[in-house]
Amino acid sequence: MDKTFSEEKTVSCDFGSCQTGQTATAGTDSSADFLPGREFSGTAGDVQPEYHGIFDSHAHYDDAKFDGDRDGMIEYVHSCGVTGIVNIGCTYESMKLSETLAEKYPYVYFSVGLHPSEADICGGYEHIERVLTGYLANPKALAIGEIGLDYHYETPLPEKQKILFEWQMQIAAKTGKPVIIHDRDAHGDTMEILRKYKGVRGVLHSFSGSPEMAEELIKLGYYISFSGVVTFKNAKKLPEVAQAVPADRMLIETDCPYLAPHPKRGERNDSSLLVYVADKLAALRGMSADEVIRITRENAEKLFSIV
Ligand SMILES: [Zn+2]
Repeated sequence: MDKTFSEEKTVSCDFGSCQTGQTATAGTDSSADFLPGREFSGTAGDVQPEYHGIFDSHAHYDDAKFDGDRDGMIEYVHSCGVTGIVNIGCTYESMKLSETLAEKYPYVYFSVGLHPSEADICGGYEHIERVLTGYLANPKALAIGEIGLDYHYETPLPEKQKILFEWQMQIAAKTGKPVIIHDRDAHGDTMEILRKYKGVRGVLHSFSGSPEMAEELIKLGYYISFSGVVTFKNAKKLPEVAQAVPADRMLIETDCPYLAPHPKRGERNDSSLLVYVADKLAALRGMSADEVIRITRENAEKLFSIV
């Protein structure tokens, strides 16, 4: 999500996502935890259009990793059955690029917000409100995000991140738009702020918290979004969360180009690989992948008011 992203720097992902300078590492998990009897081989280009109506609630096709084949990839994933994508604006530059993509493709939507990594360079409240509300006049601008807290790095300081987060929660409260929340190593402070804005609804993207935290979020009206992390062998409590979340509150996402699901972990992610996430959720919940795809699409359409 950040143009300062260093392609060579891969460090342990720790289930956050979209962190500046970071991507998911190639994992060592075996195929043992990939349950469904569906085999895909190779990378982009090999997933057959066996599913339809896949909704990717969180993607970064504006990322530099797609510079060589952006349009081809967006068209390719559509041919694989992906019928909805929210491209996430998380810097001023990516908001613009996301809007451009949304205007080009009927099945691409976008969100606008400032990621916590922008807290030192974001400008003041009035400026942010003017920029965000300007974009939100576009009917394809569905949400405010990704916004939130990321304490994995020492900067920006937590106090600055919290101010930026709250400013954008205030804009969400004013505009009635849903929020897309990034929370990395900051569960306590994230919950504290979300509890303060009771009327605001949204989604915890690539959720990494506990079943108890998910339960409180559900009560607050939030959705829980599952990324490729749920397919990782070291996914800790995430399978438990995936089993417990009510069907009408779950979403799926790639966070591409990051967080490619097993068995593609460490490769560049794209929306066609969401079938692995759907398969894993289906296995965990005892339902079919088709059902997961249909339910998560309907949930996304409801949350984001897509008619
Ligand atoms: Zn993201």
